[in-house]
Amino acid sequence: MKVIKFGGSSLATGAQLEKVSRIIQADAQRRVIVVSAPGKRHAGDTKVTDLLKELADAVLSRQDPLPLIDVILARYSEIQTHFALAEDVVAKLRAHLISLTQQTYSSAAYLRDAFMAQGEHMNAQLVAAVLKAQGLPACFVSPQTLGIVLAGQPGHVQVDPQTYRNLAQFTFPDADIVVPGFYAFDAQQRIVTFPRGGSDITGSILARGLHADLYENFTDVSWVYAADPHLVKGPRAINTVTYREMRELAYAGFSVFNDEALIPVIEANICVNIKNTNDPTAPGTLISPTKNVKHHHHITGVAAKKDFTALYLHRYLINAQVGFTLKLLQILSNYGVPYEHMPSGIDDLTVIIDKHELTAAKQQAITEEVQAQIQPDTLEWLDDLAIVMVVGEGLYASIDLVPRIMVALADAGVTPAVINQGASRISLMLAVPNAQAQAAVQAIYGLSSNHHA
Ligand code: ASP
Repeated sequence: MKVIKFGGSSLATGAQLEKVSRIIQADAQRRVIVVSAPGKRHAGDTKVTDLLKELADAVLSRQDPLPLIDVILARYSEIQTHFALAEDVVAKLRAHLISLTQQTYSSAAYLRDAFMAQGEHMNAQLVAAVLKAQGLPACFVSPQTLGIVLAGQPGHVQVDPQTYRNLAQFTFPDADIVVPGFYAFDAQQRIVTFPRGGSDITGSILARGLHADLYENFTDVSWVYAADPHLVKGPRAINTVTYREMRELAYAGFSVFNDEALIPVIEANICVNIKNTNDPTAPGTLISPTKNVKHHHHITGVAAKKDFTALYLHRYLINAQVGFTLKLLQILSNYGVPYEHMPSGIDDLTVIIDKHELTAAKQQAITEEVQAQIQPDTLEWLDDLAIVMVVGEGLYASIDLVPRIMVALADAGVTPAVINQGASRISLMLAVPNAQAQAAVQAIYGLSSNHHA
């Protein structure tokens, strides 16, 4: 059995849905179909999820929601008309959306999640109707029926382990099941959503919980590329990437597959095949537990993500001080600030933080507490940094790769503020000024493409 997930661009128009239907029909093992909300039909278009976010804001500020509801439903009507489906399909969705504007919610955050989830909720019903109209046995199944339970609050949800016990009990109907991605319910039956792009996570949970042999993730590119095509011209395609490599690359900006979505499939050892709805016979990129590392010096990919801030501390004999790091992390934790990386030396320590986790007030308060409790000789904040991740299972076996990267960066005029050969042993992390991120990626990618680095 295969779980197959389609992203928003694969479901944006009737013509795209025809391709989806052909893909499902081409393989009888494709039994679990996870769908995103309709995405952009063309550059400049707006995703349904973003329209729903606007709708939530309109409801919160007590504006008339009907004009926006019409805009949103027009996206579904377009598909209904394309397939000449009965009109009541969309009429029911409309009535449902209107009824949501009249309900009460635990807080604004829960209201927002409930609305944003509707893109997937409505689309799964529409896709099921389309497939049925095409003669395919298919039915809509909600995350609630499957027993997907989420813990945590809006913005910070995790899958509750009960989910897997529930999924183990699920019996398949005599039809393929179409499941909305991106949201599920918490123990109080409230809708909560995953982070953006989170339909990938639903697919992964179902692949694990329903014991799929493969998780196919259909999107609008034929491959995961070794570098972002916006940063590097015509980057090479990656045929196979390991879970660990993909986690690091997804974390650092490869948006093809949500980085959190890898966890359930890793736990169950299920491969993920990234494929293209517009080119379904291309083999795509396989994300798998291991791969043959033929070229030991191989860089699998290089990614960059902007907008980090580093807190640099210097104090002689940091290494000899018991509890120094503990105190620092306690201060960050008191302000609810998670950290991303923490390279340290005998007298120095740098903590790299996602800029969006900080406000000027938090930064000031953290500075004061660190000074009072730790008394560093130097405390500096470095703003506007990008993280560049060089990733490859063969990285550690290479003797000269790091110096070659440094020379390539120097030649390109890039000055890394922090260098950390990752604890994961398969990545090298560099923090460079935001403005130098592209030059850094190009220089490192150039190295890997010219010399089989
Ligand atoms: N529709 C949601 C988003 O736009 C989730 C997804 O597409 O995976 O982020």
